[in-house]
Amino acid sequence: MIYQGDSIRVEFVEDGIAELQFAAAGSVNKFDQKTLEEFSQALKQLANTKDLRGVIVTSSKPTFIVGADITEFLTLFADVEQTKVWVAKASRVFDQLEDLPVPTVAAVTGFALGGGCEAALACDYRVVDTTAVIGLPEVKLGLIPGFGGTMRLPRIIGPDNALELITTGKNNKPDDALKIGLVDSVVAPEKLRDAALAMVKSAIAGDLNWKAKRQPKLEPLQANETESTMTFVTAKAMAAAQAGKHYPAPHAAIKAVEDGAKHHREEALKAENAAFVGLTQTDACRAQVGIFMADQMVKGKAKKAAKLATKEIKRAAVLGAGIMGGGIAYQSAYKGVPVVMKDIRQDALDLGMNEASKIMGKLVDRGRMDHKKMAKVLSSITPTLLDEGVKGVDIVVEAVVENPDVKGKVLAQMESIVDTDTILVSNTSTISIDRLAKNLKDPSRFCGMHFFNPVHKMPLVEVIRGEKTSEETVAAVVAYATRMGKTAIVVNDCPGFLVNRVLFPYLAGFAGMVDEGVDFAGIDKVMERQFGWPMGPAYLSDVVGIDTADHCTVVMADGFPSRMPRDTSSAIAKLAAAERYGQKNGKGFYNYGVDKKGRPAKEKAPEVYEMLGVTDKQLEADEIIARCMVPMVNECVRCLEEGIVASAAECDMALLYGLGFPPFRGGPFRYLETVGLANFVALADKYAHLGEMYQVTDGLREMAESGKSYLA
Ligand code: NAD
Repeated sequence: MIYQGDSIRVEFVEDGIAELQFAAAGSVNKFDQKTLEEFSQALKQLANTKDLRGVIVTSSKPTFIVGADITEFLTLFADVEQTKVWVAKASRVFDQLEDLPVPTVAAVTGFALGGGCEAALACDYRVVDTTAVIGLPEVKLGLIPGFGGTMRLPRIIGPDNALELITTGKNNKPDDALKIGLVDSVVAPEKLRDAALAMVKSAIAGDLNWKAKRQPKLEPLQANETESTMTFVTAKAMAAAQAGKHYPAPHAAIKAVEDGAKHHREEALKAENAAFVGLTQTDACRAQVGIFMADQMVKGKAKKAAKLATKEIKRAAVLGAGIMGGGIAYQSAYKGVPVVMKDIRQDALDLGMNEASKIMGKLVDRGRMDHKKMAKVLSSITPTLLDEGVKGVDIVVEAVVENPDVKGKVLAQMESIVDTDTILVSNTSTISIDRLAKNLKDPSRFCGMHFFNPVHKMPLVEVIRGEKTSEETVAAVVAYATRMGKTAIVVNDCPGFLVNRVLFPYLAGFAGMVDEGVDFAGIDKVMERQFGWPMGPAYLSDVVGIDTADHCTVVMADGFPSRMPRDTSSAIAKLAAAERYGQKNGKGFYNYGVDKKGRPAKEKAPEVYEMLGVTDKQLEADEIIARCMVPMVNECVRCLEEGIVASAAECDMALLYGLGFPPFRGGPFRYLETVGLANFVALADKYAHLGEMYQVTDGLREMAESGKSYLA
């Protein structure tokens, strides 16, 4: 044995060839601080080992190395000096691997991401098996590779391909990696170790010139000056177009590669280290790392909840074949749970089936699904006009019109038909689950299952626990949502639940400005370009449906009369009264034509400016943002204080996955922390006269005064 640590062991395997194996006890292989220290020790031992002729780097697990330990990041990055020392020291460990006086071959199975990919890049050769997934996804965390990736990759695969990989963070499958020269050979999993051994033997025998392969990684990037100028100009334009100004990491990555290109390894690494440290101190990095951690937590919680499920959903029924019912039926069938789709109108059933065909048709056109699978999915959706058609299912998802009386009757009727252990859920967007439960004999088998539109694209499902819902019901519904490929977040009942409850104060904040004569298109522009929402509030209302939004304000006013009172003179109510329902009938805040690809195209509607009394009143961008966002954040705080949502991190994820909250802001609570609690309270106080939704809770004021954090 040359070295034995908790995560790494090194021993001779044959003929002067040593195997450095990552074999973390009880977890996947990752570069936490302790493993990096072991890696350095192991390499030091190897460098001093007599009669060493070659090294293979392997993993004892189905995955090579998943990367750095992201759970250490936020604590580490809180101290910039500590971060500088850490990254400088850690990146030198990879030089130790590269500087071994013998040929080195990485044998990659499963994931080799981030630091895992960088360890492979520090070897002379890379052999991967067909399960390998290799890439540098650091930009997705608001970072760049910090262990030499920006320096080594361009020297191995050329700057064009390297910049594309680093700035998009995309993962590569083995054949694609082979094509661009990122790996040297792809073999079957059972042949991986032998193939790596064979390659190192060829290098030892001199059949492969490993020194020549290593040398370019130690030198400035070999590239003709004009070509390289073109490369960087193109990469910068692409990053500006794709990532935009809110995400600094891709831009910093290009600069690090460009700055490093002129230098030998040591100086190039310094450029990378400096860029990496700079990014660790940005709000975007904190937000994106926060999202990663919260996502892990939310998925872990859903997994744990699903494990408690005693009932497996093998067959489902959906009531209502409208926009939502059709989408839910398709998603269930697509993920392998056959579904009965029931409506009272044949044309609605036809439309539901057509929608499913349309979605899959697009997948088939793009080569992402074959006709056989499409036929299988379609044949597992059974349309019916008969109540009896739903007999024998494990769950009924009610998605009929948003009317408490209609829903109440439909649910009661269903309960009388289905088995006594069939679960009933409602996809209502706003109506309290406890209110609907009053129609049922056994409310313990009932809860909310709130999908978002379009169902096949939106990742969130809110699972709403009513007062009488049993934990087994919640568990089975979470398991079903997970099976459907969705992220389930369990919340407690109230009108609007979590996501819509916090959306309406935001829309009310927007409507308040429009009532004062401010141009809604200008507000949209600020909320999209400056704040980063995918759609501004006017456009979002058109997409959701003005009639739906207006109807929801009635339900919300009923639930929260003092904070969200019904205002029949608000912009949304006026548009609804004028039958401007948004995209669905081609006219809302905007008029909608159709573009060349058949998508709705937004146009200015002068008649709306007149109807709403838009003047030339201008507000500063900061004021527009505050007047929309303060009510939303305040409502999130209330939901947390009332136990509607269990944690600030889950609230952040719900808004990210349900509403498209800008990822670089990390969610409403991360945004609140970035603004600073005390600053936020001062800002909200400035607008407190506009109504209760602008007034902060005592809890938030106390948190701000005592310097506490919601996300700590
Ligand atoms: P929709 O009007 O498109 O569809 C409703 C369908 O229900 C219609 O096809 C109608 O024929 C059918 N229906 C009515 N009574 C029925 C009955 N007794 N039995 C069976 N079918 C019946 O509405 P939608 O937008 O799909 O909304 C459905 C539900 O989903 C509502 O509760 C809504 O609040 C909720 N929701 C909607 C969205 C959205 O963005 N549209 C998002 C989340 C949740």
